[in-house]
Amino acid sequence: MQVFKFGGASVKDAAAVQNLAQIVKLYAEDGLLVVVSAMGKTTNALEKLSFAYINQSKDLRVVFTEIKAYHHQILIELFDADHPIFDEVENTFVEIEWMIEEEPQDGQDFIYDQIVSIGELVSSRIVTSYLNKINIKSKWLDARGYIQTDNNYREALVDFDKTCALIRQDIPIMLQTEVLVTQGFLGGTSENFTTTLGREGSDYSAAIFASCLNAPSVTIWKDVAGVYNADPKRYQNMVKFDQLSYAEAVEMAYYGASIIHPKTIRPLQNANILLFVKPFLNPGESGTVINAEESVVKVPVIIVKPNQVLVSVFAKDHSFVSEKHLSEVYKILAGLHIKVNLIQNSALSFTFCTDYQTGKFEALLQQLKLDFNYKYNLETELITIRHYEPALLQELSAGKTILLEQLSRSTAQLLIKAES
Ligand code: ASP
Ligand code: MG
Repeated sequence: MQVFKFGGASVKDAAAVQNLAQIVKLYAEDGLLVVVSAMGKTTNALEKLSFAYINQSKDLRVVFTEIKAYHHQILIELFDADHPIFDEVENTFVEIEWMIEEEPQDGQDFIYDQIVSIGELVSSRIVTSYLNKINIKSKWLDARGYIQTDNNYREALVDFDKTCALIRQDIPIMLQTEVLVTQGFLGGTSENFTTTLGREGSDYSAAIFASCLNAPSVTIWKDVAGVYNADPKRYQNMVKFDQLSYAEAVEMAYYGASIIHPKTIRPLQNANILLFVKPFLNPGESGTVINAEESVVKVPVIIVKPNQVLVSVFAKDHSFVSEKHLSEVYKILAGLHIKVNLIQNSALSFTFCTDYQTGKFEALLQQLKLDFNYKYNLETELITIRHYEPALLQELSAGKTILLEQLSRSTAQLLIKAES
C-alpha cells in the first residue's frame, strides 16, 4: 500500500482534480490512502473568514460568498448538475452558515479550527466523488475520527497511541477493496471537536497515517519536480536533489523550507518510511527521495521564511535583561504557542523573530506590555543559508536592509526587510 498527499496546488481547479485522478488511477490497485489539502488558496481565504467573523467585520459575507463560488465553479466543471456532490458540499458549508449567524462566543482558536477545517472537508468530498465518477472505487474517510488530538486548537498535539489504534482497526481492510480519501491538517478531540495541526499540516497527516499503517512510502505530489536547494519560484539556476537524508530534510523543514512540514519527518524516520516528493504534472519522474542514507550536500541550501516579525523587549526600569526577564518572555511565548525562529541578546534588550500570525501577535504584545517595553518590525523575511559561502552571502544581502545577522559554522541567517 501507499500513502499519497496532494496539496492545495494539486487540487486548485477542475483540471487539477482530473490530473490527480489520473495519478491515482496508476496506483489504485496497490491499495492507496489519499490525503488532500484544501483547494488552492482556500485555507488563506477561510482564515480571513474566521477573523472577519471574530471581529464581526463587514466583509464577512463577501469572503464567504467568494469561497463558495470558487468551489461551485470547480463542481460545475467536474459534474452534471444533478450529482449529489452539490448537496454534500452545500451541507458542509452550512456548518459555517450556522456558526456565523450567531455572535462569536467561543475562543478564537476554537472558532478558527471549526471554520478553516471546512476547506479540507470539502476538497476531500469533491475528490472522492470525482474518483468514483470515473470508476475508481473510492471512499471518503473523516480524518477527525482517526487523528486524535488534544484541544490545543490551531496547533493540536496528536495522541499517537490512540490514533494508531484507530487507524489499524479498520483502514487496512478497507484499503484492500477501495481507494480511501481523507483530509490532511485535521484532527478530532475526545469530545468530537475539530482541531487543526498547524498551517501546512497535511504532510504531517500523511506521515501519521503512513507510520501507523507501516506503509513503505509516502509520496507528496507537488507543482515542482522535487526538493531544490532553493525555492525555484524565487531563485534561478537551482539544483534539484535526487536524494536527501532525513536529517538534512529535518534541518531544511526547521528553517522553513515550505516543501515539507517540520513535524513530517520524525514519524517517517522512526519507521524507516521513504518520502518521495514528485511533480504531479510528470508523475513518471523520480523526484526526490528522502531516506536514511547520508546525503552529501554539495550546494548551499537557501530557505526563505516570509512574513516574519522582529520583536525587541526591554525591561521597564531600563535594567539589564536578566535570566528572570528571559524566562518571563519565554513563558508568554510558550503560553501562546509561538515559536521563535531567531534570537539575539544584548545588555538591555532581548530580540526575537517569529512567524506573524494575526490574532496571536496582538495577544503577545498585550501580555508583553504588562512587564516590558518593546519595539517591533513587521514585514520581514528570514533567509537561512545552510552550507553557506561568503560570496553567496554577499550576493543575497546586496541592496537589502538587514535587521539581524547570525553566522554559525554551517548556517547563516539574515533577517531582512521584505520588498513589497
Ligand atoms: N490547507 C492547510 C494549509 O494551507 C494544510 C496544508 O495544505 O497542508 O495550511
Ligand atoms: Mg504544503
